[in-house]
Parts: sequence; C-alpha cells; structure tokens
Amino acid sequence: MPEQSTLLLRDPSKDWTNIDVAINDGGDYSRLKTWLKRDPMDLLGEVKSASLRGRGGAGFPAGLKWSFVPRDTGKPTYLVVNADEGEPGTFKDRYWLEKDPHPHIEGCILTCFAVQANACYIYVRGEFIEGMEVTLKAIQDAYEKGFLGKNILGSGFDLDIYVHPGAGAYICGEETGLLESLEGKPGRPRLKPPFPAVVGAFGCPTVINNVETIVNVPIILEVGHEAYNAMGPERNGGTKVWCVSGHVKKPGLYEFPLGTNLKEILYDNCGGILDDRPLKGVIPGGASCPVLTPDEIDIAADFDSLKTVGSLLGTCGAIVIAEPTCILKSLIRLSDFYAHESCGQCTPCRDGTGWVAKIVRTLEAGDGTMEHIDMLLDVCGQMEGNTICALADAAAWPVQAVLKKFLPEVVKHVEMGGCPYDDPEYVAEVMAGKGR
Ligand code: SF4
Repeated sequence: MPEQSTLLLRDPSKDWTNIDVAINDGGDYSRLKTWLKRDPMDLLGEVKSASLRGRGGAGFPAGLKWSFVPRDTGKPTYLVVNADEGEPGTFKDRYWLEKDPHPHIEGCILTCFAVQANACYIYVRGEFIEGMEVTLKAIQDAYEKGFLGKNILGSGFDLDIYVHPGAGAYICGEETGLLESLEGKPGRPRLKPPFPAVVGAFGCPTVINNVETIVNVPIILEVGHEAYNAMGPERNGGTKVWCVSGHVKKPGLYEFPLGTNLKEILYDNCGGILDDRPLKGVIPGGASCPVLTPDEIDIAADFDSLKTVGSLLGTCGAIVIAEPTCILKSLIRLSDFYAHESCGQCTPCRDGTGWVAKIVRTLEAGDGTMEHIDMLLDVCGQMEGNTICALADAAAWPVQAVLKKFLPEVVKHVEMGGCPYDDPEYVAEVMAGKGR
C-alpha cells in the first residue's frame, strides 16, 4: 500500500488554526528569518530549481511563472492567490483555508518577497464562509506576531494580505476571469497576451498561484530543491493532495508523492470500489479531465504520465464511477454544468456548450441517431482551441473521451431507443464483472 505523506496534510489531532501550535509544532513562519534577509532572486532560484508545478490544474512550473514578472517597472507587483476552487470533484484548497491556514500565509509572504510584491489578494470562493473567517483570523494573528505589515521581522520588507470573496462563478477560477472579478467587474476572461505576469491586477505585474502551490513554497525552502525533486519522478517534484470522491469506500483527502500508482491509491488506500462493484471509470483530475477506463488506471499519477493515456492530472480531484452507471447520464451532469458556467463571450463556447448538453440528453433518452454522435464530435471539435479561455475545452474533453472510450454503450442507446441501464438484463451483464 502506498505510504501517505504528511507534508501538506498534517496531524489532524492538532488545532493548526492556532498560530502558536502552527509555530511551535509545525515550524510555520520559521523560514522567514533566513530568507527575508537574502536576495529575493535566491528564493526565486530555489523554487525554480524545484520542479514545483502549479497545483491548480495546469501544472505550469511556478518558479518559471514568477520569473516572467518584470522588475523595476515603476508599478506595484501583486500576488493573487486563486482560492476559488470551483472544479467539480475538487475540495483540497478549502482544507488550508479552514483547517491549516498558516502554511498558506507563510507561503504568500515568501512568494511576495521573491517577486517583490507588497500586496497579496487571496480570492476565495464566495461559498467558503468558514474558510474566509478562519483565514482572516489567521492573517490577523500573523500581523500581531510581526509576520505581516511593515518591516517584517526587521527585514525592511512590507506586506499586506487581503481576503477577497468571490461570488461563486466557476469562470472566476480562470486566472484572468478572477482578475476581472477582483477588479469589481463581471468575471469574463481576458484575451492573452498580455499575460498577467506583465499586465495583471489593476494593470500591474501579477503572479497568480493556486493555494496548494503556495503551500509548497515553505516546504521547498525547508527541505531544499534537491530533496523536493527527489520525492517524485523527473519534472514532478513534491507531494500532491488527492481529493477522492464518488463510488469509493473511503472518499476524502490523501497525500502522496507525485508518481504514486493511481490504482493502488484507489484500491489500497481508499479501500476499493463501493460494495465491490465493477469499476467503470475514473475521472482523475476534476470534471474537465478525460475519463480513464479501468485498464488505464494502473499508472503513475503525475503530470506527464497521465498525458500518455490521453488525460490530465488536473487538480487530482478523482471521481470514481462504478457500475451500474450510465455514462451518458454522468455526462449530462457535466455538460449541463459547463453550459451553465460559460460566460458567453465566445460563440463556440456560448452556443456549443448548450448544444452539447442538448445532444447528450437526446442520446441518453434514446431519441438520438448515429448522426447525433457525429454531430456531437463535430461541435466538440469546433469548441476545442477556438475560444478565449479553456472552459470550452473543458466542456469538450469529457465528451470526446466518452465517445472514444464508451462508444459501444452510446451506440446501444441509439439501437435500443432508450437507456440500456433501464433493462435489468443489461445491468446484470455489466455487474457480472466483479472485483479488482
Ligand atoms: Fe467565456 Fe467560454 Fe469564452 Fe471562456 S471560452 S471566455 S467561458 S465564452
């Protein structure tokens, strides 16, 4: 059984929201004394040498992103933390917001020092009331200890952190949609370039990182980039928190080094499939990631390996789907979600997501023809890569994966003129394949 790591998910018996517990038992804020005295470029270099890839889904190297921020522009630089966490199946960032806020705050201070930002905005999903309250209290405690504000620990470095509540729109998790929302406008993604590192919040250079990415910064500085890189495969350093949900015996948060075998995580650590039913598929990294079939999950779970089977590590929000589940019924939920969350700026997304949802529903009801399947593929093909942001891709990928990997089941709906899962004989057939 893969051994769970405890760098990110710490001993749950302790109250990590208490700043004294965080300092004394967790060593939080201990990196500030050393690193705030050094050249900011040293800190940036250390994170760049560590293969810390963004934990918000895209997996872009964090140190490289920081290095794009221009210096001496005469404008302020900002750090914006993406704590919007709207990807279905993903519930990791709220852990730090609600249960363990100090590594996040220490990570913000160190990141701001590296890019020489004197203001940090934590953009929190509007529904995370508890997370906002706990984080605000933790920030206040950090000010009282001298870790925030003017001249932090006598270093000459100043930093203020602000918590900004969102209003619960999925598209505000997209970094430029988030910036628009932060500026008080509707959360509509911006055309890129310019990229936020150059023109970000309020027209100024801005680094945007996910909460989990930020939490990794103090860990890298504590263990050093070599030890950090050695935890996972090449280009996949460190550990990763998995959010496991769906038809699994022990859902929840788990932490493993990147590259841990996905099948072993699900069957050994998470106890296997609910009621020992046959596994149908696993969406590995949040709703937008293409579904894996059971014979694809015996794989190293890291950013690069999952691409080899046509999927993505994403946020590590693993959604487990067991039989008897109609794949088209599952797809209706996802397609409706993306149609609802499209901001409407781009025609292929605004119209395409709605058409996709409608066609999937038609097929599931048994009212579709083989032409509907072709049409679905055609619409998805026109959505992919043709829009301002990746929401349209996120809506197209799950559909394309289902049509590729579960085509016989989709065709069965057409042939039967209804959902085969309404037929007890069909259900008995799919349930016959029990076990691992
Ligand atoms: Fe808006 Fe969709 Fe275009 Fe993204 S792809 S900007 S969500 S319409």
